[in-house]
Amino acid sequence: LSCVETCSSRLGIDLDALRANYRTLADRVAPARCGAVVKANAYGLGATRVGSALYREGCRAFFVAQLAEAAPLMRAVGADATIFILHGLDPASEASCAAAGAVPVLNSLSQVSRWRAYARKLGYPLPAALHIDSGMSRLGLAAEDAIALAADPARVGELDLHLLMTHLACADEPDCATNEEQLAVFRRVAAHFPGLPLSIANSGGAFLPAAFHGQLARPGVALFGVDPGPHARGLRPVVRLDARVLQIRTIAAGTGVGYGLDHIAPATQRLATIALGYADGWPRSLGVGAGAAWHRGIRLPIVGRVSMDSLTVDISALPEDELAEGEFVQFLGPSQSLADVAHDAGTIAYEILTRLGARHARILV
Ligand code: PLP
Repeated sequence: LSCVETCSSRLGIDLDALRANYRTLADRVAPARCGAVVKANAYGLGATRVGSALYREGCRAFFVAQLAEAAPLMRAVGADATIFILHGLDPASEASCAAAGAVPVLNSLSQVSRWRAYARKLGYPLPAALHIDSGMSRLGLAAEDAIALAADPARVGELDLHLLMTHLACADEPDCATNEEQLAVFRRVAAHFPGLPLSIANSGGAFLPAAFHGQLARPGVALFGVDPGPHARGLRPVVRLDARVLQIRTIAAGTGVGYGLDHIAPATQRLATIALGYADGWPRSLGVGAGAAWHRGIRLPIVGRVSMDSLTVDISALPEDELAEGEFVQFLGPSQSLADVAHDAGTIAYEILTRLGARHARILV
């Protein structure tokens, strides 16, 4: 028996939709090139399968957070692809980063000086991107430090710069004034690095005006079908999540359900216990009526608390013979998007997507 037949839950991944989203974003930012952010195992969907699908679609620049995330990707893409490490250089990682052929996004003066020292030791320039903190105060070199570095002639023999990068704090809010303010800071720095390709836009930035696209966009979540703000258009959902019915029961009015007996049936209720819990990334905050599963377009509210491996839904709205033990109900798909779930859970679609976890059978749909 294959895992798909025996599994408790199925995470469907639509690679056609992923590729279509890449094309939509690439068209949107053209003539800038379109890269892909595939950190956190491609937002949980599998760096190898996502990386190779995007590579076949023409993507040649991939961004991961950590050096350890580069290895599975390197096996999936061709040698002409560049893999950037957004966290830059971890302590003592110079040799492994150079050996991997990855390009660190240098975020601080100490990262810059460690990489330069390693290049001097090797005797040839090492590839790097520079990240400028243009106003988000998370990662990146201060503008003045980057300008001072630009004036240092020794860096040319030590750093083979591929990219000058910055990250927008409010790209998902097209009317936010800080977008333009960050762009102005970044341009002031970029003027000191003539000819160096610029990278500004994440998914939200790809839907901002062309001035934000630079020469290389870096979308992540939009590839996976999540609208990065009110201005996004034309993205297709990529994921679907179904989980199996473990048991069906009918309870009398007044009966309690789940840990803490937080749900007390107001009348006779038919319940289905489903093989999906917080260990599968389904937020515990969706218990006690906050969230739902769906079956054939009918909403099945979650009753009681979400447990580690299961939750319970009220199926009283379904005809008696509509759902049986062993069948699947839908948690993500046409009836309920990642954005819907995030809204109900009081979080963002990124968090729902990246936490879905390893236990689901991943199937290509
Ligand atoms: N660039 C950087 C530096 C990031 O940290 C991220 C993700 O958080 C992205 C691009 C991609 O962002 P998004 O998923 O919003 O497109």
